[in-house]
Amino acid sequence: MTFYKDRFSISKPLRLGIVGGGQLGKMMAFEAKRMFMKVIVLDPSKDCPASSLADKLIIGGFSDEQKIYELSKEVDIITFEIELANATALGHLEESGFLVHPSPKTLFIIQNKYRQKTFLKENMIAVPDFELVSSEEQLMQYCYNSGFPVLLKACEDSYDGRGNYLIRSENDIREALTYFSGRQCMVEKFVNFKKEISIMIARNSSGTISYFPISENIHEDHILKTSIVPARISKEIERKAIDLAILTMKSLKGSGIFGIEMFVDENDNVLINEIAPRPHNSGHYSIEACSISQFEQHIRAILDYPLPQPKLLSNAIMINILGPNKYTGPYEINGINKLFAIPGAKVHIYGKLETKPNRKLGHVTIVSNDIDPLLIMQNVEDLLKVQELSS
Ligand code: AMP
Repeated sequence: MTFYKDRFSISKPLRLGIVGGGQLGKMMAFEAKRMFMKVIVLDPSKDCPASSLADKLIIGGFSDEQKIYELSKEVDIITFEIELANATALGHLEESGFLVHPSPKTLFIIQNKYRQKTFLKENMIAVPDFELVSSEEQLMQYCYNSGFPVLLKACEDSYDGRGNYLIRSENDIREALTYFSGRQCMVEKFVNFKKEISIMIARNSSGTISYFPISENIHEDHILKTSIVPARISKEIERKAIDLAILTMKSLKGSGIFGIEMFVDENDNVLINEIAPRPHNSGHYSIEACSISQFEQHIRAILDYPLPQPKLLSNAIMINILGPNKYTGPYEINGINKLFAIPGAKVHIYGKLETKPNRKLGHVTIVSNDIDPLLIMQNVEDLLKVQELSS
């Protein structure tokens, strides 16, 4: 249903509902506001990043069914910036004819890592070898069959590295299981990857698919630290990654933008690590470096607007500003002013009131065709310091 496709009323603007008001919700809201839409956000925190831009904030949990219905009464379409959104409630809305994108059916598949990987495997899409963990003995057997190391992953509510445990030897098995005690887990073969890459790919309801240039990603402690665009990969690997992303989109239902994270292994095979049914951290570079940002592309996709292939206007490097790994509480970011001396640097501060270990607090994108990405990354890291707020 695309009743508003050609409607752009100033007196009655489109009303976009976003479940989640984190940095992705904020950047999505920014693009929506640029196009004169009304933005209503559902988030548990009144001070969430998107609160500074939203026309209205509904305070409530992402999975709070009643709050999701409340949101639906105030908007024309609902999307989400977080996988924790309640897929069942969104599914009921979709069944009743209300516009929800991406499809809650797709959200449900992606919400659980085991379900997601099983779905991909069934659709002949390459993923690392994996198994659901049912007992210590079975995990031990898997490790012996596949060889160490392996990764134990919590199937749900696990992101930004918080859901992975590296098992290096038999001695780690019990500790790993205790770490995720009570949670459904899967074990995955460790991929000795040459590179991690990702691709943002979108589809609108009319079926047009378009994708962004591939980003090369550097993680630290399982958290994205830096994205380099274009990825330093061969044409052959680029083609494989694009084909895999298109195949994935053809298997998944619904419209919107998807972030597809991949490994390039030692033999130049490309495997999918994870799919995000929303804009993704590794696509932030598109705000400054592309003809269309990932956030605008998402809005276009869910509203069934045209989706031309985004063009890379300049090479780019994106560096996350992360909180210290052992501190929770109020903080300050020192050195920001020095970043402004770097030509092509754009600073994004999300405005989170508190930091948590390795929390994403902002990012910097540097657009330039003549930069050494690793040198820039080092410079930015040397210049910036996130620390406890001094009284
Ligand atoms: P995830 O939260 O599962 O996306 O994992 C976060 C990061 O952990 C990835 O970006 C990789 O750096 C690393 N990782 C996850 N799965 C594997 C794997 N099977 N082999 C090697 N590294 C992995």
